[in-house]
Amino acid sequence: MTTDTTSISTIRCRPALTRTPTITSRSATSTSTARTSITITDTSHQSPTDDGADDDTDDGQGLVAPLLPLLRGRRIVALTGAGCSTESGIPDYRSNGRSGPRNPIQHDAFLRRDDVRRRYWARATLGWARFRTAAPNPAHHALAALEEAGLLAGVITQNVDRLHHRAGSRRVVELHGALSEVKCLRCGRAEERDGLQRRLLQANPGWLQIGADALPDGDSDLPAELVAGFRLVECGRCGGELKPDVVFFGGNVPEPTLAAAWELFAAGEVLLVVGSSLTVYSGFRFVRRARELELPIAVINIGPTRADDLVQAKVSAPASRVLPRLARQLLSL
Ligand SMILES: [Zn+2]
Repeated sequence: MTTDTTSISTIRCRPALTRTPTITSRSATSTSTARTSITITDTSHQSPTDDGADDDTDDGQGLVAPLLPLLRGRRIVALTGAGCSTESGIPDYRSNGRSGPRNPIQHDAFLRRDDVRRRYWARATLGWARFRTAAPNPAHHALAALEEAGLLAGVITQNVDRLHHRAGSRRVVELHGALSEVKCLRCGRAEERDGLQRRLLQANPGWLQIGADALPDGDSDLPAELVAGFRLVECGRCGGELKPDVVFFGGNVPEPTLAAAWELFAAGEVLLVVGSSLTVYSGFRFVRRARELELPIAVINIGPTRADDLVQAKVSAPASRVLPRLARQLLSL
């Protein structure tokens, strides 16, 4: 991948008391349009002594400084991924060196195989109790505030947790659907996940306790003999198989969803990527398009992304730490 950046600067910030910023820069030959790429890495969240408190004496202005020139005066469209929700207690499978979820459900296998659906629903019945109680974090609230103020056109999200809605965001396109909705594979009838949860627990009394005992670390496969005893629940109308209304690995973003995403994308003058490594093409396509249109691209994400060579500014820090400061600056509060 080629780069046409004219200079790259990296500033490493530490907690206020021990801050010793290191600034490095290098020049590169410009090949086409002149661009400046700036990366800021905030290592304070990695410090064992960092309790997450606001330790920035400059109110984080240094952290958001490279983003402001790109975002100020331009209508923003945000593209969010798992990193936006990690502070809400929803694991980001691609952070901390992990390449993806363990044994991800494959779309085709879910449609074809009874045992795959059984394994999914056995685990999902356990996971839902915790998932549904996750609350929006400051990153979600900051995006909602920017939309409320008319600075943000909306959010295209890869997340299935519906936390943007709960934070007050109004225009949200859920590329991968939402776990709170379930659809019948046969007749298409929609059902709320909470209602299905009640039916699942009626069919599998005591499951939450059995499962919790079997999953002490919350990230293990359930023993096969336990899964085999799990009773699947069917569509209340036609008896068909049920699927959460999300896009599994190997599945495609539905056309109407994609059309809505492109419509929202077109309303933006700058793309702000939040908490996504952009590994999945469903999100990366918007970065590619922005680049083709020569729209500025800014990234807030811990760790490398697939688009690092394509963006004008990147801050490597938690979204919940950067976005509230960014919103305050943009709203001039
Ligand atoms: Zn049905």
